[in-house]
Amino acid sequence: MGASVVILGGGVGGSVVAMELRAQLPAEHRITVVERADRFVLGASLLRVIVGERRPEEISRPMTALARHGVEVVTGDIERIDPSRRSVEVGGRRLEADHLVVAVGADLDPSAVAGLVESGHSFYTLEGAVALRDALASFAGGRLVVLTAAPAYKCPAAPYEAAQLIESSLRRRGVREKVAFDLYAAEPAPMGVAGPKVSAAVRDLLAAKGIGYHPDHQIVAADAPARRLRFANGAEAAYDLLAFVAPHRAPRVVSDAGLAAQGGWVPVDRGTLRTRFERVWAIGDVTGIPLKMGKPLPKAATFAEGEARIVARSIAAEILGGQPSEPYVGIGECWVETGDGATAHGKGDFFAEPVPVVSLEAPSAESHRAKDAWEREWLGRFS
Ligand SMILES: Cc1cc2nc3c(=O)[nH]c(=O)nc-3n(C[C@H](O)[C@H](O)[C@H](O)COP(=O)(O)OP(=O)(O)OC[C@H]3O[C@@H](n4cnc5c(N)ncnc54)[C@H](O)[C@@H]3O)c2cc1C
Repeated sequence: MGASVVILGGGVGGSVVAMELRAQLPAEHRITVVERADRFVLGASLLRVIVGERRPEEISRPMTALARHGVEVVTGDIERIDPSRRSVEVGGRRLEADHLVVAVGADLDPSAVAGLVESGHSFYTLEGAVALRDALASFAGGRLVVLTAAPAYKCPAAPYEAAQLIESSLRRRGVREKVAFDLYAAEPAPMGVAGPKVSAAVRDLLAAKGIGYHPDHQIVAADAPARRLRFANGAEAAYDLLAFVAPHRAPRVVSDAGLAAQGGWVPVDRGTLRTRFERVWAIGDVTGIPLKMGKPLPKAATFAEGEARIVARSIAAEILGGQPSEPYVGIGECWVETGDGATAHGKGDFFAEPVPVVSLEAPSAESHRAKDAWEREWLGRFS
């Protein structure tokens, strides 16, 4: 009888595990993805939606595309995970797995900050990105604020990219001079895990575009009627249009399952991505992987994808009896969009000790084309 692999979450990590495994395992072995959303949305492309460079349907694909790859898709909310039995409840149905992969990502929790939901646009969701796009289209001048509402969030480059893309779009529309533009960040520096050189390069990019940067500003409350933000350090800021990255938290279903450590994220062996439960793996944003420097591995598609490939090989080897996979080594790369058709390419060894070794090249049209190709390649997987 064939083995059964159940993958929780059909986002970046889950979809890669599913497609890789399908390519490696004969058809008698069953691969199931459980996912609540009916469409896969490429996170990196939300930034292009904000500035009208992509329409929502251009950056998303139906989840059912996975079925065309020979993967069973169960649509529904995962209500309960029992990792010791490798069983899952979804929509009243119970699924049993020989191998279980937890890839449910990170939840956004804008309500963790009083008044935030009513005050601005959470551009890490498709709905929020579309609402921000519409608000920007009619924004003719005033105070524009981009805010990170907590210091740790997925894709540490994204708010810095969003700010630069928005700035560039305001210039294109001829309204830049009428806008006071500021970025308030809960973190002490941009992309801190990548090191001080990368942080300084990103700060320079913001400064060159006249975007005021205010790090170490942890928001405590937003007042929508007064259009004011209040920070833990006593500072206040006024805004007319607010775009924010909401605080993240681990999905409750994961903490309820006893999979999470303190802080909510799932601890794994960083080389194998195994949890403490037998034949239960966790990958991507839902994991918490500490680095020697004292901060965790950032949450990003580049890591979720790399981890997914290792897990797929490990599971295939267990089922087929082959060589175990080589360990995951924490190499990550990213494209930092800087507006005006330019992108800076970054790459690094995030498991290097004592600190990650990461470099960021100057923005170029060539790297922008590479990002376009990456986007096409990703979405093409769902066709
Ligand atoms: C604006 C933005 C820009 C980004 N840019 C980049 C970039 O340039 N480069 C980069 O590397 N990364 C980028 N990222 C980050 C990247 O998208 C994430 O790190 C990546 O998607 C993580 O993959 P994952 O599989 O762990 O989680 P996800 O891709 O979030 O997948 C988790 C899936 O689990 C599902 N799920 C969760 N809970 C349940 C439940 N209870 N029941 C059923 N289904 C559930 C969710 O619906 C989701 O589809 C960006 C993110 C954003 C928001």
